[in-house]
Amino acid sequence: NKVIDIQDISKVYQVGTQTVHALRSITLEIKKNEYVALMGPSGSGKSTLMNILGCLDTPTTGSYQLSGQDVSKMEDNQLATIRNKEIGFVFQTFNLMPRYTALENVALPLIYAGKKKEERDARGAEVLTMVDLANRMDHKPNELSGGQRQRVAVARALVNHPSIILADEPTGNLDTKTSHEIMGLFEEIHSNGNTIILVTHEEDIAQHAHRIVRLRDGLIESDEVNENPIKAT
Ligand code: ADP
Ligand code: ADP
Repeated sequence: NKVIDIQDISKVYQVGTQTVHALRSITLEIKKNEYVALMGPSGSGKSTLMNILGCLDTPTTGSYQLSGQDVSKMEDNQLATIRNKEIGFVFQTFNLMPRYTALENVALPLIYAGKKKEERDARGAEVLTMVDLANRMDHKPNELSGGQRQRVAVARALVNHPSIILADEPTGNLDTKTSHEIMGLFEEIHSNGNTIILVTHEEDIAQHAHRIVRLRDGLIESDEVNENPIKAT
């Protein structure tokens, strides 16, 4: 039941005559229903690793199996298909479509998945209810508070039943109280059986996760179970 199986990957960028080793030798295995925080100082390789985890990019060397499929050598169009199916993204800046309602935003991944309108609306309503926004389905993003926008984004990430939720600094634009609320929501979706990878540089956000992986200079510096995760709810 390994969802993520990364073996000895590296990522090398060539910038003019300069070679940058963004990831040097990363081995990382994540099982279904784990809740992992990925931490590290600026420049340590978090974004590079997240882009690879999220099938936005491929490693220079090494292998990456996502839900049993080798994605490390795939072409962009194959990666896009896998990404839509397997990964639910949550971003710091929400990335919602401003002209679409909450329901339309949440149902968007289902259009790419080829689902009919009736099914899209039903599933969209279901996930919005899950994040406690049943009464905000027809609101557009600018008619919602920051925390509500992020809950719409979490609902959108869940709509396709992805193998992993990949959240990149999901509380970075939220105040302390609202951040706490969103961390409570992650707790809830984790207890519903979802696999969560949370990229953050904030120690108190990372402490909500049940496992903390720390990167430094393109290497995993530590990978530890968090015995006492912070409870938001
Ligand atoms: P973090 O997200 O932890 O700040 P990054 O993964 O963005 O770290 O960067 C790791 C290293 O790789 C840095 O030294 C950065 O300058 C370099 N890097 C990242 N992306 C690129 C790129 N597209 N081209 C060249 N170098 C890059
Ligand atoms: P916060 O508690 O984060 O300050 P707001 O004051 O922005 O939230 O919003 C309070 C409520 O009013 C929210 O439930 C939101 O859905 C609703 N709301 C906010 N702005 C608008 C708007 N422009 N049109 C309609 N409803 C709105």
